[in-house]
Amino acid sequence: MAEREGAWDEDWRDVFRGGVSNAEQLAAHFDIDIEEARRVTKEFPVRINKYYLSLIEEPGDAIWRQVVPDPLELTDSLGCEDPLGEEDDSPILNLTHRYPDRVLFYINHQCPIYCRFCTRKRKVGDPHSLPKEEVMKAIDYIREHPEVRDIVVSGGDALMLSESRIEWVLQQLRAIPHLEIIRIASRVPCALPQRVTPELCDMLRKYHPLYINTHFNHPREVTPETAKACGMLADAGIPLGCQTVLLKGVNDDPEVMKELMQKLLSIRVKPYYIYQADLVFGTAHFRTAVEKGLEIIRALRGHTSGMAVPHYVIDAPGGGGKIALVPESIVEWNDDEIVLRNYEGNVYRYPNIPPGDANAHGESPAGGLTPFDPD
Ligand SMILES: *Cc1c(COP(=O)(O)O)cnc(C)c1O
Ligand code: SF4
Repeated sequence: MAEREGAWDEDWRDVFRGGVSNAEQLAAHFDIDIEEARRVTKEFPVRINKYYLSLIEEPGDAIWRQVVPDPLELTDSLGCEDPLGEEDDSPILNLTHRYPDRVLFYINHQCPIYCRFCTRKRKVGDPHSLPKEEVMKAIDYIREHPEVRDIVVSGGDALMLSESRIEWVLQQLRAIPHLEIIRIASRVPCALPQRVTPELCDMLRKYHPLYINTHFNHPREVTPETAKACGMLADAGIPLGCQTVLLKGVNDDPEVMKELMQKLLSIRVKPYYIYQADLVFGTAHFRTAVEKGLEIIRALRGHTSGMAVPHYVIDAPGGGGKIALVPESIVEWNDDEIVLRNYEGNVYRYPNIPPGDANAHGESPAGGLTPFDPD
């Protein structure tokens, strides 16, 4: 822990540049096979910034697994490069328009760390920032599509850009009248909390309604630094959600997930999704059985605050979008009643009211609700 003291005072750019960004630096920090590390990082870049590096307690722990390259990344027969068909649903460069009313917009390829399980493994790490004309074209597309009322600004990670660059994009987006909400998907609050500065917050708060969905995968990522960063964003009026990925050897344990979800609420982040790991090439060693995700939801629902229970989703391979999986709670469904099971396994009955016959089980004499009169 001593290594982490004072990290907070450092400029986020130094925190970002410090740490590990190649096989040689990795070998300097850990007892790993440098040749193997070279082979893996040739395909998929490594980036473990100084702050995130300081969270690793020992090789193989839940933090290590998320960022240290593994030779298994090169031996994956099931995964493919673009499992969600994001390119197929892309009417224009850097934009995926899959759902009727919302789009996903990739603004850069830089991230605070490079997660080994990343769905956009094929893309992240490209150091070139997108040319302004390309960004402009994506913005034009949104302007020309009035059905788009919600945008997810993703990447990479938009918050890795400079304030002026982010602000320019937000200004362009806010000038589009039909765009109701802007969401930023960012691992920054978790993996590079120093980047959340008062200047960033003061800029972001001008573009409400603005949401940030961040990405924590383990309770040990909840630190005084991340708590401070999330608190500052929340104080700027930005509702915070979390999109967690279910990962073997990291968080595939109901107790670990419960602790994570509760800790997130304590730093003002509302758990939003738990993702089943996508079928991305090079990530097979992270995948769990779908049953594990359902087991986790069963361990959460009813056993802790409903606020702490996210949706467990599979992003359907081939571009079907997110499909929520819910543990079976309906035991039986017949003409008269629905038989339900609660979180303790007890069975309860609720009358099955036929559609269009809402009053059948209790006619009100007044033919409706009697207005409440305080006098
Ligand atoms: C996840 C996603 C969205 C946003 O989906 P929500 O369920 O509204 O959070 C939009 N577009 C694409 C392509 C996505 O993958
Ligand atoms: S921060 Fe997000 S986009 Fe970047 S490598 Fe990690 S999971 Fe992928």
